[in-house]
Amino acid sequence: MDFSFSSEQVELYDSALSFAKSELNVEASAQVEDFPRGLWRRCGEFGFLGLPVPEQHGGLGLDTLTTARVMEALGRGCADTGLVFSVGAHLFACVLPVLECGDEAQKQRYLPRLCAGEWVGANAISEPEAGSDVFALKTRAVRDGDDYVLDGSKSYVTNGPVADVFLVYAVTAPSHGYMGLSAFLIEKDTPGLSVGRPFQKMGLSTSPIAPLYLESCRVPASARLGAEGQGAPMFKRSMQWERACLFGAYVGLMERVLEQTVDFARQRKQFKRAIGKNQAISHRLADMKQRLDAARLLLYRACWLMDRGQEAAMEVSLAKLAISEAAIQCGLDAIQIHGGLGYVAEVGIERVLRDAIPSALFSGTSEMQRDIIASHLGL
Ligand SMILES: Cc1cc2nc3c(=O)[nH]c(=O)nc-3n(C[C@H](O)[C@H](O)[C@H](O)COP(=O)(O)OP(=O)(O)OC[C@H]3O[C@@H](n4cnc5c(N)ncnc54)[C@H](O)[C@@H]3O)c2cc1C
Repeated sequence: MDFSFSSEQVELYDSALSFAKSELNVEASAQVEDFPRGLWRRCGEFGFLGLPVPEQHGGLGLDTLTTARVMEALGRGCADTGLVFSVGAHLFACVLPVLECGDEAQKQRYLPRLCAGEWVGANAISEPEAGSDVFALKTRAVRDGDDYVLDGSKSYVTNGPVADVFLVYAVTAPSHGYMGLSAFLIEKDTPGLSVGRPFQKMGLSTSPIAPLYLESCRVPASARLGAEGQGAPMFKRSMQWERACLFGAYVGLMERVLEQTVDFARQRKQFKRAIGKNQAISHRLADMKQRLDAARLLLYRACWLMDRGQEAAMEVSLAKLAISEAAIQCGLDAIQIHGGLGYVAEVGIERVLRDAIPSALFSGTSEMQRDIIASHLGL
């Protein structure tokens, strides 16, 4: 077993971390209207928006493990987890399916724009009646000559208010169940497609989320991504990437918060000594470190399996579950150790908890991850 990274991986991690720290940390706004377009472009310039995409299509051509590691650098270096989340949603739930299932014309039209940061991508599958039971979706796409006509509504679309292209999942063959779903790439100005009002939410404030409506939305058959009926396996595959690599960013976030909290525990004095000298504090920090490293190792193993083309669904769920739950606990621990300052918004610690809580919901809830793990145990 080899736990070391190659010198290229180390170099890339270091440059991604230093870029994120120096270029992506301008004052983050709490307003949903303020999606940071300029920083998005900067992400494109570095290559964050196309990490696993081959260079010929405008990306960096990285494998899964290196992609997760660079996402880790991004999450550690950039304090705006909303921006980081938008990058991950764009990359793993929109760009990746285009890369893996797109025809040549689709790859040429979308990948260079999406990787460069010229365009923003979004993924629309969840519906009011289809959340965890996602394949129960009702949006229909009916073939009409050379076109499809889509009708339905989607409940939460990350990047929706700023997206240039939406990957929309719809039922094309109602009697075929899981194999009756198809995916469509729909551009923002297409008649019949409209984005609802962005939600106010507790965290990830610079990552706008909104519902999406499709009313007699007509698209050419060439907008279909992959074959008819390929939608569900395509979505599952993109979730495997997202559950692995996007969550690398939360590993990076935890590392940053742990460093910050250790520093604070060494400096803050009460009763004439550093608070970190109390076991109640130092053991809490030791537990934070233990959860971080355990979650990180689960992630690396899952990515390692994916890079070898091996079955990794359970390992990916184990990693996603461990990271999201560790990130929430990390937010709670950091607030407790910072005392009153942990609760003051300007200090930036309470934000960690607000940004971590949704990680146990999106990309499949913690309950759904436990279901996947249990089913691999034969239950
Ligand atoms: C920040 C954020 C960004 C998102 N971005 C997108 C996006 O870009 N595109 C998109 O399509 N969707 C997106 N979503 C939607 C997300 O995928 C869903 O919220 C998620 O799948 C859960 O669905 P739900 O909210 O309908 O909850 P529900 O499925 O209604 O679940 C409610 C509760 O019941 C539990 N539950 C449900 N079924 C079971 C069961 N069988 N056994 C045990 N417990 C169960 C759940 O785990 C949860 O705790 C986003 C959500 C969030 C919070």
